[in-house]
Amino acid sequence: MNEYLSGPLVRLVEQAETVATTIAGPASEQVDRDAAWPEASMRALAAGGLTGLTVPAHLGGHGQGLLGMAALTEVLGRACASTAMCFGMHCVGTAVIAAKATSAQQDAYLRPIARGEHLTTLALSETGTGAHFFLPQTRMRPDGDGYVVDGGKQFVTNGGHVDSYVVSTTAEDAGGGEFSCVVVDADSEGVSWGAPWAGFGMRGNSSRPLTLDGVRVDGDRLLGAEGDQVWYVFEVVAPFFLTAMAGTYVGVAQAALDITLQHLRDRRHAHTGQALADVDLLQHRVGQLWMQVEKSRLLLFHAARLGDLGSPVALTAILASKADAATTAVNVVNEAMTLGGGIAYRENSTLSRLLRDARAGHVMSPTTDLLTLWAGRSALGLPLL
Ligand SMILES: Cc1cc2nc3c(=O)[nH]c(=O)nc-3n(C[C@H](O)[C@H](O)[C@H](O)COP(=O)(O)OP(=O)(O)OC[C@H]3O[C@@H](n4cnc5c(N)ncnc54)[C@H](O)[C@@H]3O)c2cc1C
Repeated sequence: MNEYLSGPLVRLVEQAETVATTIAGPASEQVDRDAAWPEASMRALAAGGLTGLTVPAHLGGHGQGLLGMAALTEVLGRACASTAMCFGMHCVGTAVIAAKATSAQQDAYLRPIARGEHLTTLALSETGTGAHFFLPQTRMRPDGDGYVVDGGKQFVTNGGHVDSYVVSTTAEDAGGGEFSCVVVDADSEGVSWGAPWAGFGMRGNSSRPLTLDGVRVDGDRLLGAEGDQVWYVFEVVAPFFLTAMAGTYVGVAQAALDITLQHLRDRRHAHTGQALADVDLLQHRVGQLWMQVEKSRLLLFHAARLGDLGSPVALTAILASKADAATTAVNVVNEAMTLGGGIAYRENSTLSRLLRDARAGHVMSPTTDLLTLWAGRSALGLPLL
């Protein structure tokens, strides 16, 4: 897909490929087995400046938008889905901070992120409202020149490993659904973590529950102004979040396809001397898998490009892209398990990990059902909510 990318972005993709093949891929089995946050990969991405992907160029970052997000998460997702998701959630959090950053926020967060000295992430989902991540019940009340935040978040990817958390909250006097995002520093008093993440898949994510108990944040940690919260959800959070996830799951699907191609080429039956790749039926099934992956990739890059261009039809494509990528990942990995025969079914095979990782795609908000509903509403010209 590099032929669709600008020169600077191609170089970033090549850099990410190096991290993916030399660090993230080789570590992926251990990350999955031990449910270990992908420390070495994240540090390598930071050391190479890639964690500054969505920091504006004038602050020392790469100034990339959705296309950059799509390209890098795909490359990383092919090697280790947890690394792709941890990196993606950092970049989404960064994009949210960058959208309306004050000069104090630029100095405190964006410049250090560009230098690879600060990691962040997004803490939106809550137990109470589940898949409706845009309806937080975490409360924020004024306190002198700042705020006090009380509440709880669930599934905070990168939880306990990064320097700050972009937290969605509802102002006490706000109407239904209104919220503000604030940046909470990791070492703030009142921040505590629930049990370590032990997921079915995405086991390196460290997607942990977070409790915010009377956490005081300075006034200059509020992102944007009180009241423009909905703008954040649809203009920044959703496009970046969805693109990061779609990129990751296209990467997962491609990884499963790669394994299938290799297996069909290598596996020969003694009684025929023929490689499985020579069997018509299997060639046909590979053709079907290739079409699914390529269509999802094209939709992802098309949607990301429309988003970067500010096209009025970008939103429908972006919503559809994540739902489609999750569906493709689950289908393709499932089929790859069949084509891989008994060896694919052994305990801890790479395909078994990919199957578990792929399953998160449907439930990570916005879920496949909600996105498909919203894509339909968007195509009909109806309000999403
Ligand atoms: C690996 C992983 C990483 C995550 N990382 C993050 C993160 O970094 N930050 C973050 O904020 N969150 C994160 N999440 C949370 C995630 O985005 C979702 O919020 C969460 O998984 C869904 O909430 P729930 O389990 O309560 O689902 P529920 O709300 O119980 O939903 C269950 C099912 O019902 C469906 N459903 C619910 N309501 C409706 C409706 N009205 N119409 C149609 N269908 C409906 C949903 O689509 C879903 O399929 C992560 C989750 C996972 C699994």
